[in-house]
Amino acid sequence: MLERDSIRPIDAYALEENLAKCAVVDKDTVRAMIADAPTVEVEVVKYAEWIPVIKTFTTVAGVDETAVVGYRCSRCGEEEIRRRPYCGKCNSKMR
Ligand SMILES: [Zn+2]
Repeated sequence: MLERDSIRPIDAYALEENLAKCAVVDKDTVRAMIADAPTVEVEVVKYAEWIPVIKTFTTVAGVDETAVVGYRCSRCGEEEIRRRPYCGKCNSKMR
């Protein structure tokens, strides 16, 4: 049985070719073929979102106002002045 502590992307085409070579296919054979299937290299995409950083300040007229002064990454907490497609610290793709 495969351990499930991480992902293990397999090459489905290679697995299909190996299955086609089998005369008899039972559960144990399929399990063994999956365990032996070649893997493919993939990059896991981490997603996050920009959370507006809102500050309250008092104007020279003495009025309290709020303004968005930046954006915080929901994954790592990094703050940036502008919303960008990716976080500059954790490289999450922003939704
Ligand atoms: Zn981040």
